[in-house]
Amino acid sequence: GCGICPKRCPFGAITIINLPTNLESQITHRYAANSFKLHRLPMPRPGNVLGLVGTNGIGKSTALKILSGKLKPNLGRYDNPPDWEDVIKYFRGSELQNYFTKLLEDDLKAVVKPQYVDQIPKAIRTPDKSVKFLIEGRRSLDNLDEVLDTLELRHIYDRDVTLLSGGELQRFAIGTVCVQKADVYMFDEPSSYLDVKQRLSAARIIRSLLRPDDYVIVVEHDLSVLDYLSDYVCCLYGQPAVYGVVTLPHSVREGINIFLDGHIPTENLRFRDESLTFRIAEGTEEFIQDKTRAFKYPTMEKTMGNFHLSIDAGSFSDSEIIVMMGENGTGKTTFCRLLAGVLKPDGTKRVPEMKISMKPQTITPKFEGTVRQLFFKKIKAAFLSPQFQTDVVKPLKLDDFIDQEVKHLSGGELQRVAIVLALGIPADIYLIDEPSAYLDSEQRIIASRVIKRFIMHAKKTAFIVEHDFIMATYLADRVIVFDGQPGIDAHANKPESLLTGCNTFLKNLDVTFRRDPTNYRPRINKLNSQLDQEQKLGGNYFFLD
Ligand code: ADP
Ligand code: ADP
Ligand code: MG
Ligand code: MG
Repeated sequence: GCGICPKRCPFGAITIINLPTNLESQITHRYAANSFKLHRLPMPRPGNVLGLVGTNGIGKSTALKILSGKLKPNLGRYDNPPDWEDVIKYFRGSELQNYFTKLLEDDLKAVVKPQYVDQIPKAIRTPDKSVKFLIEGRRSLDNLDEVLDTLELRHIYDRDVTLLSGGELQRFAIGTVCVQKADVYMFDEPSSYLDVKQRLSAARIIRSLLRPDDYVIVVEHDLSVLDYLSDYVCCLYGQPAVYGVVTLPHSVREGINIFLDGHIPTENLRFRDESLTFRIAEGTEEFIQDKTRAFKYPTMEKTMGNFHLSIDAGSFSDSEIIVMMGENGTGKTTFCRLLAGVLKPDGTKRVPEMKISMKPQTITPKFEGTVRQLFFKKIKAAFLSPQFQTDVVKPLKLDDFIDQEVKHLSGGELQRVAIVLALGIPADIYLIDEPSAYLDSEQRIIASRVIKRFIMHAKKTAFIVEHDFIMATYLADRVIVFDGQPGIDAHANKPESLLTGCNTFLKNLDVTFRRDPTNYRPRINKLNSQLDQEQKLGGNYFFLD
């Protein structure tokens, strides 16, 4: 440690969290007495994409609501809100003054892709609820074909929005915003429910909206997507549900590194007492593998309705994490369910019986009672084990809501409960289907570390489906690449090394990655940049140092 820390600190850095002292005079909005406060605001710049990154409950959506004009900021005076004139006076001298003035005079039109796309169908009141009707009704730009192609909306164009899956709704919602002529475009968490290919397509269509006078703002938890999308980044830090502070804009690399470090060098300010890194071997022996057992599964075929999946035979050992990569609809969940024995393959071939614990992709809470009661019912032994508490329960911060009703949890809280439940059941194989869904960037990194540590300590095997590429490559010892035609005829390759697997996967996507030298974060190369071209020529879509 450094000698000044109140806590033992493995990083040797200063861990005293110092906050700016003048925050009280910089309240942009407070919902009510003793409720969440947002300090400062991000300042969008014309002709640029501004990325926002920060933990859940830190005020990102609140900031978007204010900048879109949907929420009048009360400057903290919730009991006696100022009028717009006072608000504009408050921002005098900053670019926000001009921004709000134009917004009020209707010189700026703002459109927003809302965070919770699942709520869209309920909100639509027109008799015709088809994708086509809703998109064409809003369109005022000349890019319909490009939007429909890029977001793969053609095959669902006549479908009723009430019938769409999460990923389809997300693409519909992004498309609806992208066909409109506006001055301010906002996308609140556009990558939820999308696979890697769709995330990159969404990023490209969002960037195509940029004109010299436009503002584009994106809230995003997938750090490689945020990186790819943004021209600069503001971090939000503070205490979730209590207060949030917006930083000044930084370059993308700097902004993301600030978020990961928990430290703003220019202000000499630390807002988190640990830094988040993607280096796997942190000088500890905990990730040394000890492979003593081998498992095999045979070549399998599975037909369900019009969908056919063929799986190459494969083998795996304990202390190993295998990540499944592939587009939505290529049968990753189906493969998990075959391994778990919930589904039977065509014909007579069978997966050997193994003890399986599975975290399903969709979590719908039916349990009546609190999180603690649920754990006592389902995973009592693990929950009472000090090791499990230290390795799993504590880092995932379940204590914050352990005595709340399961039915009242947010998506991110439920996801963490589901991860704990899956890891708490003694098994040989852990199947974890899309653990990053609903988690913020920080929780994703923590959850990945928890899963990795647990699997290595317990000497078990995990199969993990994951679309957040940073998480996927952090977790994976080996990968299974799924290819073929989504929803129709797909194929699962046998497990292969992280390097060859990612190379194949990324080549299909026509994307190359490099590594950030500071914190080992994988970064997407800009299309046709020098590195991109060099790496493609050499066939090195991915790196491994
Ligand atoms: P983020 O988008 O970063 O997850 P939000 O801006 O949605 O965060 O919310 C920040 C905090 O403000 C949360 O604690 C949330 O519960 C609270 N909050 C959001 N909307 C309201 C509201 N209308 N009334 C009271 N509190 C709210
Ligand atoms: P992934 O997890 O890779 O997104 P899934 O395994 O969930 O893919 O699904 C693969 C395909 O199988 C999808 O097109 C899905 O619609 C289809 N499918 C899933 N379950 C059934 C079923 N019971 N009957 C017919 N088709 C199904
Ligand atoms: Mg939000
Ligand atoms: Mg799936």
